[in-house]
Amino acid sequence: MHILVTNDDGVTAPGLLALATEMRKLGKVTVLAPDRNWSASGHVKTLERPLRVKETFLADGSPAFTSDGAPSDCVALCLLGYLGEKIDFVVSGINPYANLGHDVTYSGTVTAAMEATIDNIPALAFSLDSKEGQVGPLDYAPAASVARRITERVLAEGLPKGVLLNVNIPYLPADEIKGVKITRQGLRVYRDRLDRRLDPRGKPYFWIGGDSPTGVDEPDTDFGVMLAGYVSITPLQLDLTAYQSMDGLRKWAW
Ligand code: MN
Repeated sequence: MHILVTNDDGVTAPGLLALATEMRKLGKVTVLAPDRNWSASGHVKTLERPLRVKETFLADGSPAFTSDGAPSDCVALCLLGYLGEKIDFVVSGINPYANLGHDVTYSGTVTAAMEATIDNIPALAFSLDSKEGQVGPLDYAPAASVARRITERVLAEGLPKGVLLNVNIPYLPADEIKGVKITRQGLRVYRDRLDRRLDPRGKPYFWIGGDSPTGVDEPDTDFGVMLAGYVSITPLQLDLTAYQSMDGLRKWAW
């Protein structure tokens, strides 16, 4: 079992090391992760410039690769033959913030897993629901242990074709996590605000700021079960077709 570990926070992120460390208990691990933070970069395919890959080391001294591409580029590099050997399984994370509801289309963590799904390689995305304003480093150990147990289960059962799992883990000590629930995507409530500022030469520039998103608390959703202290596993597929709209649209006088 050859597992590719990547993320969207960059190769130095502690969540990546925590995930790679647990995955080494399950098989051979290769780490190839971006050389910078690509959070909220979405599903990227870099075509207009070359991609470079460098050898590096994680904080525990273990070898890793890093690329100037996006998370999905890192997965594509490996699946298209950069390593010269086959990848059986892809895990992405552990992201330091939850990826819930609409977040999945923004998330570099989730879209890295989607890239593997396109190539029919089973893939999981892991995110930790840490709170904004967290003081000091996050403890990834409980979430990494959950990630390993979930990966073991997926390896034993096998994922349905075309399905990836978006896993969100509450930021709780291991003995306070209540269990695992299979969920649907909930509704995010974004509170983005455009900040207009002036540069030193008097020209305007813009930042998308505002408060961090909340969500609609429904009991069968990723957002709802996380609030209740459960690990949320949402099966995702890349078919975004709104089937329920098709019949109605067909009746329009096109
Ligand atoms: Mn991130």
